[in-house]
Amino acid sequence: MIEFLVFWLGLIAGSFMNVCIHRLPEGGSLVRPRSRCPKCKTTIAWYDNVPVVSWVLLGAKCRKCRKPISARYPAVELLTALLYVALWRRWEGDVPFAAAACAATGVLVVIAYIDWDTFLIPDVLSLGLLAAGLAAAGINPLFSGSVGMRYAWSFLGALTGFAVCWGTAVMGEWAFKKEAMGGGDIKLLAAVGAWTGALGAFDCLIVASMFGAIYGVWLIAAKRLKRQDPIPFGPFLSAAAIFNFFYILPFGFPFEQ
Ligand SMILES: [Zn+2]
Repeated sequence: MIEFLVFWLGLIAGSFMNVCIHRLPEGGSLVRPRSRCPKCKTTIAWYDNVPVVSWVLLGAKCRKCRKPISARYPAVELLTALLYVALWRRWEGDVPFAAAACAATGVLVVIAYIDWDTFLIPDVLSLGLLAAGLAAAGINPLFSGSVGMRYAWSFLGALTGFAVCWGTAVMGEWAFKKEAMGGGDIKLLAAVGAWTGALGAFDCLIVASMFGAIYGVWLIAAKRLKRQDPIPFGPFLSAAAIFNFFYILPFGFPFEQ
């Protein structure tokens, strides 16, 4: 029963995240105006704005202009709902952290889509996630020791994320003679470190590189990539960071936390 509620909350969060994904890059307000069809600008009635359900009932078309509505909207809602249920199961019994991990995961999904669309990660998201990670360190079960120690681990994690990503960016630029990672990626990995510690930040970069490599190989195999086509790294960092909320690769020393 409670999982059904978590799933429903995930759908509603996903619906709001869709708004963020489309309005944040344009600098628009997140609450006004009400949702409109991107094609004909008709305000969408509440009964046509029910997560996933409305999209299916409307046959993926706007009620007014009958132009297609992207499958991305219900996909984001469904993805978020499934992640919320999975996070709830992973952190069952630790309600405050399960809720915090769900909120952070929502921000990570928004970052992934915005970076995918625009090659930019808004500071309000990456730095907001960093601040939230530092603030939540006291209740974070990924850190051990006293409350003071947990804040120290979180801070050290943020520093490590920043340093590891910055170092990789500098080396990448030197090796490939072009920018491989941007400032947005560096701030994002600092945020990941604040949530999951130095080990988490380190893991995140490795897992993200693996995800990116798999995607790159698939693109080449499917002949959909030209060598100079840039691929944003933020979506892979975000996916790896979400993975971290379930499982952190056990590298251990020198990353005991
Ligand atoms: Zn329309």
